[in-house]
Parts: sequence; structure tokens; C-alpha cells
Amino acid sequence: MVTGGGTTIDAPSGRPSPPEDETAPAVRLTGVRKSYGPVVAIEDLSMEVRPGEFFTMLGPSGSGKTTTLRVIAGFEPADTGRVELHGLEVTGTPPYERPVNTVFQDYALFPHMSVLDNVAYGLRVKGVGRRERAEQAAAALAMVRLPGVEGRRPAQLSGGQRQRVALARAIVNRPRVLLLDEPLGALDLKLRQEMQLELKAIQRELSERITFVYVTHDQDEALTMSDRIAVFSNGRLEQVGTPGEIYERPVNEFVAGFVGTSNVLERDGRRVMVRPEKIRLLAPGEDAPGAVRGVVREVAYLGSVTRYVVESERGEKIVVLRQNLDTSAERVLQERGREVRLEWRPEDASVLDHKQQEAEA
Ligand code: ADP
Ligand code: MG
Repeated sequence: MVTGGGTTIDAPSGRPSPPEDETAPAVRLTGVRKSYGPVVAIEDLSMEVRPGEFFTMLGPSGSGKTTTLRVIAGFEPADTGRVELHGLEVTGTPPYERPVNTVFQDYALFPHMSVLDNVAYGLRVKGVGRRERAEQAAAALAMVRLPGVEGRRPAQLSGGQRQRVALARAIVNRPRVLLLDEPLGALDLKLRQEMQLELKAIQRELSERITFVYVTHDQDEALTMSDRIAVFSNGRLEQVGTPGEIYERPVNEFVAGFVGTSNVLERDGRRVMVRPEKIRLLAPGEDAPGAVRGVVREVAYLGSVTRYVVESERGEKIVVLRQNLDTSAERVLQERGREVRLEWRPEDASVLDHKQQEAEA
């Protein structure tokens, strides 16, 4: 298993970057630990977020994602370790002096204030004049595709609209780094999927200026939106990589199982992982060298695809996913009990428990 200590993304240069260094990571955590009494929330956490990227921290509840975000924002002091933002050390700097803003899951809008005043709040605190505040707030609301509701109270908005207000309120301050803690968690699935695409589009427009660090426990959300994903488990970093690397080359069974469905099999004394959609069910009578023989134990017709559970000769339960390209519900459901052969390409069997490759292109 890869532990946090060996999982830095870029090879560290070993010397501190000067503040004006444009190439410094937007966020760099080095050996960060944070505990609450006896509970160790994050341990020996080292990671780097590149300027302008959409970086997602993904993991189950309690894995330390929010704690990491709060350490970056400065709401929680780290027990040990170092926090840098754009090459500047901020480990002991209070939150309001860090160039970051946070969007919380519950939005934390002021209920008695209009939408415009909510969005302009940070500017007012900074002493920006009334007219300029209104202009910048209107521009931020346009940015999140929410014009024409400036005079309303938060209670007069839908959940999706409130989410946009919270986002506008954060980006109006032009933070270098925007921290988002499960911002879509309160929305229903359809709206959440729409907002994922919009948030990604907004991030693309802002990426010259703002780096997004996003927290979610939803693997589909992470795959949809992220340039890179950091997978957390029990306060430790399991793997960092692009969605493709995380999905196709998970370093261990935890990552393989948390991000998507996987078949973990023993082959030649090693554990390998094959995704269900990479496995082909051979046609009756068809054979191939190395094909695995088995019996279809379960068939689930899911509309666009069918999921089969095949019990192999060795007693393994192998999940296979097949597109319903030229078949029907009636036909696939008759396949239960059938003897079949399975085949997959060698390169689609990913070896688990290897060290994550340090070098990246
Ligand atoms: P996540 O955001 O991934 O769900 P958290 O960072 O919130 O995880 O929590 C990590 C661990 O730290 C959990 O075991 C949680 O119970 C604990 N924890 C978080 N905040 C506090 C707190 N204020 N006091 C005590 N324990 C906490
Ligand atoms: Mg959390």
C-alpha cells in the first residue's frame, strides 16, 4: 500500500520557491498531520496542486477531506508539517490573510441579506465602494449564470440558485485558490449532474486566475470534473492521478473498489484488477487462447447495458458489463445458467499493490 509519505506528485525541488515564482504549486502540503484529541484526521500528508487545475480530493466520509481543506484555508492549524500557497509559506498565517476562499456545502448565506449584498459582502469588508461593489457582484452573478435575482433573499431561491450565489460570493473576492467542500451535496441527482458540467465550464473560464480544490465522496463527480484526483482513505493519500490513471491504473484494491466496479483476481501469484466493461463474453462456440470458462450466475438488465455475474472454473465471481447494442431484455435474461467463455486484453489487467509511478509527463 502506498502511504502519504511517498506520494508526492512532482519531485520536490528541495528549496523554497520565491513568492513571485509563477511555476510554484498553487497549494503544497508537506508532511501535514492533524488530530482532534485521540482521532488522527490526517497523517503525513504531502501533496501538490498545480496552478489553474481542477483538483479533487475524493474519499469516503471521515477520510480527512474536510480537515485537509480547513488546514489549507487556515481554519485548523496543522499539528506538524508545512502549508504553502503559490510558493509562500502560510503555515501560521490566519485565514483572512490567505489568498483563498471557501464554498461550504450548506452555502452559509446570510438569510436577511439580498443576493447582491450576500455576494458583495466580502468586498464591503475590504472597504470597496458601493458602486464598485454592485458592479463586481453583478459580474460574479453573471459568471455563475444567475442574472436578475440581485434583490431576492436566499429563501426565495431554489437550491441550485443558492449554490450559485455561494459560488459568486467566493469568486467575487478573486481568490488565488477556491476551496469547495461538497458544494453540490444538497442537490438532487439531475441538478447535481447539470451543475457539475457548469462548474467545470466556469472553472475553465477562471483557470488563468483561480485554482479549484474540490472535495467530494462521489466518484462520478470526481471523474466528470477533475484534472487530477487525490484518493483519500483513513486520513492518508492512497493515490493521485488523472481520472484515467485512477480508473485504469489504481494502485491498490481500495482505490479500484472506491472508484468504479472492479474484479480483483489472482493471476501468476499477483493480484490484478480488470474492469467489467473490459471483459468480452465470447459468442457460443467461439474460443480464444487464455479464455476463462465459467457459468452465468446472474443477469441484470440495466437498459443501456447488461451486467452479468459469471462464476469461473476457479470459483471466482467475475462481473461483466456489456452494451445492449444488438440484443434485447428478453434475450439477455435467457442467458442465466449458460456456459460462457470470457476474454480480456492483457493490458486491461492492471497489477495492484505496485508503487505509484513518481514521474509524470
Ligand atoms: P471527511 O471530510 O473526509 O468526511 P473529516 O476531515 O471531516 O472527513 O474527518 C476526518 C476525521 O476527523 C473523522 O474521523 C472525524 O470524525 C474527525 N473529526 C473531524 N472534525 C473533528 C472535530 N472538530 N472534532 C473531533 N473530530 C473531528
Ligand atoms: Mg467532509
